[in-house]
Amino acid sequence: MSLNVGVLSIQGDVHENIMSAKTAIDELGIDCKVSAVRTSEEISQLDGLIIPGGESTTIGQLSLVNGSLKVLKEKIENGMPVLGICAGMIMLSNNASDRVVGKIDQPLLNILDIKLERNSFGRQKESFESDISLDSINIKKFNAVFIRAPSVSDVGSDVEILSKFNDRIVAVKKGNVIGTAFHPELTEDVSLHKYFINLVNSFKN
Ligand code: GLN
Repeated sequence: MSLNVGVLSIQGDVHENIMSAKTAIDELGIDCKVSAVRTSEEISQLDGLIIPGGESTTIGQLSLVNGSLKVLKEKIENGMPVLGICAGMIMLSNNASDRVVGKIDQPLLNILDIKLERNSFGRQKESFESDISLDSINIKKFNAVFIRAPSVSDVGSDVEILSKFNDRIVAVKKGNVIGTAFHPELTEDVSLHKYFINLVNSFKN
């Protein structure tokens, strides 16, 4: 049966994630469609979702207003695999505060029990790339692109740490939920998108 993967299309890196997911699907040879999704109706039909990087306050506020936040939470709680990238990982968290302005009242999905610092590595102009590894999911070397990235300072007992950069946690996993502080859609390497599509495939089949 064909899989249905969506990229949340409220704000942020939507197109780049669609392209990376399509390349991953081609390389895996899996029958799966990928599309931009926004409404509760579209989200309710998904087998997997990517929440892209962008601006978490905007993504949270607009999905609260259009009513999709509730459906998103229900689907993820019912086991739907989700890849939250940067702002997407912030959306998945239950405890986010900004390095400079501290805690603000932003809508979060409260799925991952993680303590997270927004803009942890500085401003846009302090963006950087570095090789990291995600050994436990068999990705030995990955070129990670950090743009106004968050870092995770603490995780609950049910959250697995997938990767660290300079002692800061930059990728986490809990069941079918993955969060990365960096942007896998901005590199040629689609191994993280492939890992995610495989998760969706095992969830559905
Ligand atoms: N700093 C952004 C936020 O707090 C995330 C940046 C990104 O997704 N590249 O939402």
